[in-house]
Amino acid sequence: MSQAWMEPHYDAAALLAAWVIAVYALYVQSLVVRRVQAHDRETGIAWLLGGALCVGTGIWAEGLLNLVSLQLPVQLGYVRAIVLASWLPAVVISAGTIWLHCHERLSLRMRMTGGILTATAMCLLGFINVSSIVLKPHIEWDGVTLGSAACAMLLACFFGSILIRWAQRGPLRHGRTLLVSGAVASLFRFGQILMIMAISVPAGTVCLSADQISGDALQFLSSCAVLPLLALVHLGTVLDDRSVRRHEALRLSLQQAQAALQEAAEHDASTGLLNRVGFEKALRGLLGDDGRQVLSLCVFRLSLDGFKTHVDTYGEDLGDTTVRHLAGRLRGLVRDGDVLARADTDEYLLLCNGLSDEHQVAQLAQRLGEAIHEPCLIKDHDMVLSCSIGIACFPASNNADQLLGHSRDAMLTARKAGGGVYCFYERGMDRIGADQVEMQRDLRHAIVRRELSLHFQPKLRASDHAVSGAEALLRWAHPERGSVSPALFIPVAERFGLIGELGRWVLDEACRHIRVWHEAGLHLPVAINLSAHQLRQPDLEWQVRDALKRHRVPARMLIMEITESAAMDDIDASLRVFDMLDAIGVRLAIDDFGTGYSSLSYLRRLPARQLKIDRSFVKDLDASLDAQAIVEAVVRLSHALGLKVVAEGVETEVQARILAQLQCDELQGFLFAKPMPEAALLAWLVQRDTQVPVTSSVPPGHAVLDEEDRRSWSELESASSP
Ligand code: C2E
Ligand code: MG
Ligand code: MG
Repeated sequence: MSQAWMEPHYDAAALLAAWVIAVYALYVQSLVVRRVQAHDRETGIAWLLGGALCVGTGIWAEGLLNLVSLQLPVQLGYVRAIVLASWLPAVVISAGTIWLHCHERLSLRMRMTGGILTATAMCLLGFINVSSIVLKPHIEWDGVTLGSAACAMLLACFFGSILIRWAQRGPLRHGRTLLVSGAVASLFRFGQILMIMAISVPAGTVCLSADQISGDALQFLSSCAVLPLLALVHLGTVLDDRSVRRHEALRLSLQQAQAALQEAAEHDASTGLLNRVGFEKALRGLLGDDGRQVLSLCVFRLSLDGFKTHVDTYGEDLGDTTVRHLAGRLRGLVRDGDVLARADTDEYLLLCNGLSDEHQVAQLAQRLGEAIHEPCLIKDHDMVLSCSIGIACFPASNNADQLLGHSRDAMLTARKAGGGVYCFYERGMDRIGADQVEMQRDLRHAIVRRELSLHFQPKLRASDHAVSGAEALLRWAHPERGSVSPALFIPVAERFGLIGELGRWVLDEACRHIRVWHEAGLHLPVAINLSAHQLRQPDLEWQVRDALKRHRVPARMLIMEITESAAMDDIDASLRVFDMLDAIGVRLAIDDFGTGYSSLSYLRRLPARQLKIDRSFVKDLDASLDAQAIVEAVVRLSHALGLKVVAEGVETEVQARILAQLQCDELQGFLFAKPMPEAALLAWLVQRDTQVPVTSSVPPGHAVLDEEDRRSWSELESASSP
């Protein structure tokens, strides 16, 4: 006989209320998750617990409403203790779900496990709720419907954890969250409805708990008390979100203000360059706390000469415009990684790293000086400024304070020298500098005042003492100091950047003499000395070509002497310059050989024609066998390399004889003649050669020209004749 069942009804209002609460609770839960994530640990835990209490209450109420929607033909009542007890698991489930959703980086497996646990817990909660109605005989469950209910809840929990995370990212966050909450809650609610539909109540059943809480009371409690509670939490999340965002905006603007302040503190407002503070910071940063080795670091301090007068004359406004204009020019000269700053009203600082040697530093200083010196038109005023540049380099100045202090000392020295020059820092500069500064100032006028001249010292063929050429040596007749040795003023010229001008003058004078003598019948090759600084001048090739062309001199007649130490200073740079000069046709000689530390294998790479053995070896020749052995070895090797050997500083007959025996090619020294002015040289040549009658002021044909010399002259003459 088949069993008779009670016909259940479902209260639509309760179902709807349950659905609204479910959607809203899920939505509020997602807001709580964001609050937990937005805060630090302590506040996050507070949000988690508070959120779990309220959202859990929502879940609890929603479960009860689901149960209340089930209506049977008998009066139903719900056991108070069970109804109240079911609140706790609802809160725990909510806390677990919030925790799960807060951990964004959970693996899929963990997420699935969490979903299964939540769904199981929700099913259990459903059973607890149903058990609050005490019926006699017992409720029957339909297994298939119950299984379907569990599946729907499981899916809802699983998709909920993924979809709500997706909805909270990107645009329209709130709308998307609400939509997903609605969809997930609906799926979940479907599961819950299936669960109560799985309940079958046999006909004739009585409710033993009918005297406990009534369905109406529960429905009222659930809907009226819980919705405001959830709304309160909702409001709390909104306010908290706003305050966090305001706090964040405040923090950001504070950060920006701090950065702007820092920027202003380290920059010069007028030029936009770093100021002294910023420059020092950059310098210390580069050197590091431990004074890390930055081998090629240089500080240039450029001080505008007479800028205060300039400002007094034209006004501060124009002064400012000038400084800005000049800063723009300097900017054009610095490379990436260099640091340019305006250290004072009339002072710039430049920090360069990576300049390989002193010559490169000098070249840059030259260019900086030229950039400042270029005329500029500012507000209808034509002006030409100059600057005094002080240079200090690491590791000679081995910390930031020294680099800054030494560059100032050097700049002050340059300024004392009259300005418009650069000056390298040297130890004890402040003490011994005064004399050099004075000398430098005088040297700058020496060319214009015609105080410079060339003296010539003949070079003789060792075998028969025939004159083979002359070395031009610079002389300075100072009005007060008398004759100043080049050994004294050449280093000063190098230090203050005047060597370029001196070198050009010497080159020009030497070529002029070769030409004048040639026209008078004296064909004398002339050697000039080239300093290391000149070797690095970018326009050296042009200078040499121009001088040879202007005076119509074959390149072969000009010999350029470069000291061994200068040639070996930067072998690759020397190679380039030597090759360039060799290509012009100029002959090259290595001067003062033996004083540097070059090896002959290096020399082999240089296209030099002559090697001049230093005086110090020649001096000992008559007394020391060692000196003889050294000279002999040098001569042999030089000959093997195709170089002619010239001995410098020959002072005695014995030295001359030994050198001739050792196969030295040419001799130069006081034994034959001291360096002398042009007139004296000519007289010396005449007096030496008693065979040739003196027909003009120039004795003809004295120099021993080789075939190539002769050919070079005739080629040049035929090329220039119409
Ligand atoms: P240097 O090129 O090796 O020139 C030879 C020096 O030795 C000259 O000194 C010369 O007067 C001196 N001398 C020659 N024979 C004797 C001798 O028998 N005994 C002694 N004790 N000395 C002798 P000076 O003219 O004083 O020149 C010194 C150095 O200055 C030169 O050495 C050269 O390096 C440099 N110098 C001279 N003129 C110029 C120039 O126009 N440009 C550059 N860059 N350097 C120059
Ligand atoms: Mg020389
Ligand atoms: Mg020499």
